[in-house]
Amino acid sequence: ARITEIMLHKFKVQTKARAAVIDVTAQVRKAVEQSGVSSGLCCIFTPHTTAGVAINEHADPDVGRDILATLEKLVPEKGDYRHYEGNSDSHIKSTLAGCSQTVIIEDGRLLLGTWQGIFFCEFDGPRQREVWVKVAPGP
Ligand code: ZN
Repeated sequence: ARITEIMLHKFKVQTKARAAVIDVTAQVRKAVEQSGVSSGLCCIFTPHTTAGVAINEHADPDVGRDILATLEKLVPEKGDYRHYEGNSDSHIKSTLAGCSQTVIIEDGRLLLGTWQGIFFCEFDGPRQREVWVKVAPGP
């Protein structure tokens, strides 16, 4: 049980806009370091129905901007939706992004491409959100 506690890491993300992508690569790296796992898999999961986790270029912030702008065009806030909460677009964007990502851990490090970063994606902010990171040792 103690090992499980160490390897499940949670952190909060405070978002400031209705839609945003927030680079959480550093928080995930920290979780991997704290786990002490040198080889395995890292699952990054967000337990929300109007948010997501994505991996994409984080060197140029315009990439995140373009992703959000295009999602907004594909799935506008107002549309032919029935969901009583009025945030159907947020649920649909969450489904498109997905609520988790998996990254390989090798030599104690996240095996990301040179330009890749891990983003928390907000589609119905501003809110306080959570990200859960599970680090699983493996061969
Ligand atoms: Zn809803």
